[in-house]
Amino acid sequence: MCEYIYENGHKCDKKALKDSNYCSLHIPFEEGELLYGEKIKEIKEKAFQKKLEREITYFEGVYLYNALYNARISNLKNNKSIIFKDSHIKTLIIDNSEFAGVTLYNCTIENFIIFETTLKTLLIQHSIIFGANILKVRFYTSIYIRDSQIKYIMMNSFEHVKEKDKENSSEGEYEERYHIYGRVELFNLQGVRKIGINSRYPLLKKFLEEKGIKISEVTKKHAKARILVISSVKFDENPRFKRQVRILIKYFSGQLLMENLSIPGHVQMIRIKLPEFVHIVIYNNLVFKRVHFYSDITWNLTVLPNLTAELTVYGYILIEDCCFNNPYIEEIFYRLARINWEKSGDNEKADIYYYHEMVARRKQKIERYLMHLPVKFRLPQFRIKNHLKLNKMRRKIKCEEKHEKLFTS
Ligand SMILES: [Zn+2]
Repeated sequence: MCEYIYENGHKCDKKALKDSNYCSLHIPFEEGELLYGEKIKEIKEKAFQKKLEREITYFEGVYLYNALYNARISNLKNNKSIIFKDSHIKTLIIDNSEFAGVTLYNCTIENFIIFETTLKTLLIQHSIIFGANILKVRFYTSIYIRDSQIKYIMMNSFEHVKEKDKENSSEGEYEERYHIYGRVELFNLQGVRKIGINSRYPLLKKFLEEKGIKISEVTKKHAKARILVISSVKFDENPRFKRQVRILIKYFSGQLLMENLSIPGHVQMIRIKLPEFVHIVIYNNLVFKRVHFYSDITWNLTVLPNLTAELTVYGYILIEDCCFNNPYIEEIFYRLARINWEKSGDNEKADIYYYHEMVARRKQKIERYLMHLPVKFRLPQFRIKNHLKLNKMRRKIKCEEKHEKLFTS
């Protein structure tokens, strides 16, 4: 009998392979290769597929390869969760499937690829992974990638969808759990080289094609979640990666929160909505392209005043083809960019941003002027409530201006 003992104390009840103490799934790579050579891959594949056929989806302490179909879960539809615990896998591929969830806990995996799959929850925790690729995944609840070492994270075209029966469930219960719905979280990760949301994937495509898997690269990429949190991620400090794009976020709709990050490289954001920064240091450049900075009044009062203190960029800041619904944000971002260019000595670029900054200031003046108009001339969208909020904001701004004067004089 196999000598593997599960965490719950139960012994594996499979027959051990000849000359080994372990069954085909629990036998480590080296021992298996020593005894069976290349054939071990086939043995493991058969055993793995047999388990899947019997609808067994819990795997603990297994060793799996990346041979043709080995460690591939394809076209599987059931209401169970796929769980890998304390396992070693060369490449794990999950595709065209629909089930409750995928959990990778305390695993060592070279490549994890999941695509064209619908699930409730995807959880990766306490694992060591070289590349995690999440493509075209629809999820009902959340995607958590945390407390792990992952070199490359690529997430393309993921989408949070609402479960039909959830709409009928009691409102209170939904609200209680609301914060987990639609949440994508990258938290407490180590040794990260790159996080790409909707980046290109020619290498992965080639890799999959070599395995006989065709995946069409979506031309129109789009990712949707209620909130995407990138928090306490530690990047690979190797100088080799210092000049590379470390975080690339494209075509994401939802709230984006970045916190506690010290990024040795570039950050690029293309076509996203308003990003929020808490304790962010970027040692290289920050590029915003076609970003819609769209904020509401609470954001203006809470995040905006702290923005300059929360975001430090040592390289330059580029703001290209961006729009703002609020001249205060406009001013702050252009000012950040202007100061950065001034520091680097490029006065021409600094001038351009200074111009934008002044335009934003003028817009604020016009807005304030409009507020002072008599009621009958007031634009219809400014209701009393907004007016009160704006009064509050105006006081805040006056206060800030006073502070500014104090500091500059
Ligand atoms: Zn076993």
